[in-house]
Amino acid sequence: MTSDQIEKLTALMEGSELHFAEPMDKHTTFRIGGEAEAFVRVQSIEELSDLRAFCSREEIPFLFLGKGSNVLVSDKGISGVVATFGERMCDITMKDEMIIAEAGATLSAVASYALQKGLTGLEFAAGIPGSVGGAIRMNAGAYGGDMSQVVGWVRVLEPDGNIKTILGAHMEFGYRTSILKELPYIVLACGIQLMKGDENAIRQTMLELAAKRREKQPLEYPSAGSTFKRPEGFFAGKLIEEAGLRGRKIGGAMVSEKHCGFIINEDNATAKDVQDLIELVRKTVYEQFGVLLEPEVIFVGD
Ligand SMILES: Cc1cc2nc3c(=O)[nH]c(=O)nc-3n(C[C@H](O)[C@H](O)[C@H](O)COP(=O)(O)OP(=O)(O)OC[C@H]3O[C@@H](n4cnc5c(N)ncnc54)[C@H](O)[C@@H]3O)c2cc1C
Repeated sequence: MTSDQIEKLTALMEGSELHFAEPMDKHTTFRIGGEAEAFVRVQSIEELSDLRAFCSREEIPFLFLGKGSNVLVSDKGISGVVATFGERMCDITMKDEMIIAEAGATLSAVASYALQKGLTGLEFAAGIPGSVGGAIRMNAGAYGGDMSQVVGWVRVLEPDGNIKTILGAHMEFGYRTSILKELPYIVLACGIQLMKGDENAIRQTMLELAAKRREKQPLEYPSAGSTFKRPEGFFAGKLIEEAGLRGRKIGGAMVSEKHCGFIINEDNATAKDVQDLIELVRKTVYEQFGVLLEPEVIFVGD
C-alpha cells in the first residue's frame, strides 16, 4: 500500500481496530504466518462494505478470514488488507427452533446456545473451532454431521455491497466445500434449523464427542485440524501411518504421532516447513498407494 492509501485507510477505519504489519501467527490456530500489511476487525456490515469498496477502488488485495483455524498463512505474509469480524458481529438469537447466528460467532458458542435452549442437531459442531462464516464456507462437519444438514439460509454480502439471502439448498454444499469457494461473497449471518430435543441427551452427546476428540486428536499442539481431505474409500491418517510417516518432521512441523492426519506445529514451524511436509506426505502416499491426498487446509498469502 502507498502512504496515501495507508492514510486513507486509517481515516476510513477511524474508531475501529486497525493494525499495520500485523503478525498473522496471532490470528491462526497453526500459530504460523508472516505479517498482514493491514489487519482490520470490522464491527458492522456497513464498515465491511465500505472497507471492501475502498480496497476495490484502490486495487488493494482484500482477504476475509474467520478464526484462522483452517488456513496456512505464508511466511512472507499477506499483501493488502485482511479483515475479520469483531465482537459486535457475533450475535446469536433464536426464532422458534431456528438459531440465527451472526457470522463472527464461534461455532462452539452456537452449539452451546443450542444446548442451553434444548435444541438438537448441532451436537456434531460443539468441538469444531472457528467461526460460523468459516464453517459455512467449509461445510464444516464431524461425526456424521455437517453444516449442510442444518443451514436453512445464509445471508451474504456481495462485492458490490448488495446483501442477499441464499437458501441452504442452493449453497452447493459438498464435502468441505460450498458455493463460497467460487463466489466472493462474505457470510454475514445464517439460520440454523434445529429441533426440540432433550437437554441431557444433547449434553451427553457433546461430552462424548469432546472426549473422543481429546483422545484422538493432538489438541495440545497448534494445527489447522485435519490437514488433508478424506480420500474416497480411504482415511488420510491411516494411509499416512501405513506409509511410515508417523512422527515425520521437517523443521518444526511434524506428522502428529497421535493422529497422522494432523500436521502439527511442534516447534516454531514455518509455513514452508508445513508445506514441505505436506508435499512429502502427498508424494510418499501417492507412490505407495496411488492415492493423491488433497489438502483441506487453505494456503493464503504471498
Ligand atoms: C484442532 C482442530 C480441529 C478441527 N476439527 C474440524 C472438524 O472436526 N471438522 C471440520 O470440518 N473442520 C475442523 N477443523 C478446521 C476448521 O476449524 C474449520 O474448517 C472451520 O470451519 C474454519 O472456520 P474459521 O472461522 O476458522 O475459518 P478460517 O480458517 O478463518 O477461513 C477458512 C476459509 O473460510 C473463509 N471464510 C471465513 N469466514 C468467512 C465468511 N464470513 N464469509 C466467507 N468466507 C469466510 C476464509 O476466507 C477461508 O477461505 C479443525 C481445526 C482445528 C484447529
